[in-house]
Amino acid sequence: MNQRILLIDDDPLVLKSFSRLLQREGYAVLTAASANEAIAAISEKEFDLVLSDIRMPGKNGVEAVAEIQARLLEAGKKDLPIIFITGYSDLSASLKAPFHGEVLQKPVDNERLLFAVRDYL
Ligand SMILES: [Mg+2]
Repeated sequence: MNQRILLIDDDPLVLKSFSRLLQREGYAVLTAASANEAIAAISEKEFDLVLSDIRMPGKNGVEAVAEIQARLLEAGKKDLPIIFITGYSDLSASLKAPFHGEVLQKPVDNERLLFAVRDYL
């Protein structure tokens, strides 16, 4: 079965280009345009990895991922690897909770992104 990636970003162009890239590599991708959409998706479907923007209106990516991890824990499911993509290095400092994954700085080229995804899957 294809590995499933939840892709979170408020920018529709980013969702489109990254999901194309990842689908071409054989991953099953579900996109979420906000933290709330992502949290809803996680309670309905299984994923193998989360790829998330940080700066978003409403809840940011760090808050979204914290809530996702809490829900997975509650449901007795295993922690997912997380790759954050951000243009704001200051925000990676707000990642106080330990997580399995990394923070990539924008602009992220395709090879760098695919390398990180392969690394954590
Ligand atoms: Mg954004």
